[in-house]
Amino acid sequence: MIHPKIEALVASKMLDFMIPADNVANVIDQHTLSTGLLILTQSNYTMIPVLSAESKLMGVISMSMIIKAVMTVDAIEMERLDELKVRDVMLSQPVRVQANCHLADVLNYLIDQNFVCVVDGDNRFLGIITRKNVMQRLTHLLHLTSNPGEVARLIKLFETAEAAVSYTHL
Ligand code: AMP
Repeated sequence: MIHPKIEALVASKMLDFMIPADNVANVIDQHTLSTGLLILTQSNYTMIPVLSAESKLMGVISMSMIIKAVMTVDAIEMERLDELKVRDVMLSQPVRVQANCHLADVLNYLIDQNFVCVVDGDNRFLGIITRKNVMQRLTHLLHLTSNPGEVARLIKLFETAEAAVSYTHL
């Protein structure tokens, strides 16, 4: 468990890290693999979330999942791009967290994967938290501690009841 004050120092709430759904490239589970491939290629990301038509989180899909789905041992069957749907090849049940989750959960997930999906209580997709978002914040905080005056200020703040609030404004 991460101490609540340390957690507040890094982020007052996990939504501070989140890239909101409107800014996240995604595909719909009913799309064909052709469409999925097109969107993935245009997004410049190797893996993106898969949503239902109702914006619920259904899975994640990557370039390699699509390529594996159309490859046999000795050929690439391009016609399968229009035969198969995204939902046929996506990874369903991706790791997801809710907005009120703890920093420790997010950090644990980000050890093994590049991003974590954020959903509400109805599994509606809210956005993603990426490794980069978290690394940027931690790097910022670690650089602050290279300034002795700042370290003293942080310690003082940390010792007061106001710490949780004040740290979030660093
Ligand atoms: P980053 O930590 O910024 O390198 O992002 C990690 C991963 O999160 C990327 O490789 C993508 O799979 C995913 N990702 C980041 N930003 C977006 C976005 N705007 N839309 C869709 N996926 C994203």
